Amino acid sequence: MGELFVVVNAGSSSIKFALHEAVAPFAATRRGLIEGIGTAPHLRLRDAAGATLMERNWPVEGFDHARAIAEAMALEAELLDGATLLGAGHRVVHGGLHFAGPVRVTEAVLEELQALSPLAPLHQPHNLAPIRAIAALAPELPQIACFDTAFHRSQPPIAQEFALPRRMSEAGIRRYGFHGLSYEYIASCLPRLGLAGARVIVAHLGNGASLCAMRDGRSVASTMGFTAADGLMMGTRCGALDPGVLIHLMDTEGMDARALEALIYKESGLLGVSGLSSDMRTLRASSEPHAAEAVALFVYRIQREIGSLVAALGGLDALIFTAGIGENDAATRAEVAAGCAWLGLTLDPALNAAGRGRVSAEASPVSAFVVPTDEEGMIARHMAGMLG
Ligand code: AMP
Repeated sequence: MGELFVVVNAGSSSIKFALHEAVAPFAATRRGLIEGIGTAPHLRLRDAAGATLMERNWPVEGFDHARAIAEAMALEAELLDGATLLGAGHRVVHGGLHFAGPVRVTEAVLEELQALSPLAPLHQPHNLAPIRAIAALAPELPQIACFDTAFHRSQPPIAQEFALPRRMSEAGIRRYGFHGLSYEYIASCLPRLGLAGARVIVAHLGNGASLCAMRDGRSVASTMGFTAADGLMMGTRCGALDPGVLIHLMDTEGMDARALEALIYKESGLLGVSGLSSDMRTLRASSEPHAAEAVALFVYRIQREIGSLVAALGGLDALIFTAGIGENDAATRAEVAAGCAWLGLTLDPALNAAGRGRVSAEASPVSAFVVPTDEEGMIARHMAGMLG
């Protein structure tokens, strides 16, 4: 019994959904993941402690996104088990310039979000599909959209601009920044870490990776720009790239927009450089020189971009690691920190190996922390704020 929110995070080949209690601390009671849409559709349902409750496979034929959403919704209805569903919250990648916070979805809002699809063609349509499906099935259920871009709207205008002709920025070609729900969650943890007014860089290092510079818990600059392809090297994305490379490839290899998209989003990064895998665990376990080179480049790019964000902040008080690699890979943290010695950062090897809370040495003038992120929990909090 009780009151619950459902939080939906729909991507290009997977749908995550979770039931969260509608009272603080908004704990997740069930988490579902349908992945392998288009390859080998598979569902795993976990309880609050992460133990698997159910697994299911489907034949790939006919199992499209619409079917995955329908399966997720049917399961979620079953899981309610007499509890009241108060609303559905959605992770939506792009809120454009307009949405600087979460919004209650109406038909007009949906149209506005649909119009932003060209800015994030690989994600936005998938994010909006479950909103439409739920609206058709339960038109009275409140739905809240939470954006990956919204947290960055606090950046000064100069941090959001490209040096392109003015008409381009007027047409929306600007730096938006992403991973905003993760950064917003980490920002909410800063007071408890004694970093409320501090100059902080948060390193969200997962399959997607970016950095965010924060002052007073607000975004000042970030490494992702117009799309989630900019900035750091990632699992399969190249990160910052001389735009001349793209023109060169168009001229010499006849690559078109789709081929370049596949190159920079799917074939590059750790996967492209190692020729082996996009997964940090696999690369760390490998003795292949190209695997080590890929990891070294990943770390080097982070070190370089930290330098840039320190300049934007005018100094640094703390570095926070989060997401799959940031939370779990002590070697990456140690290597990144070694390149920040010039800032005065020293890790404590034992604390870094333990990997939670403060990981910097007692005397280090710049501190470092590991804080697990919680994007879905952040959405649940927003829902309570909007629906309460
Ligand atoms: P995410 O996108 O946040 O789920 O992060 C995925 C990335 O985290 C992948 O590159 C994983 O290899 C990496 N990762 C997860 N656990 C570990 C671990 N124990 N050690 C190193 N990397 C890890």
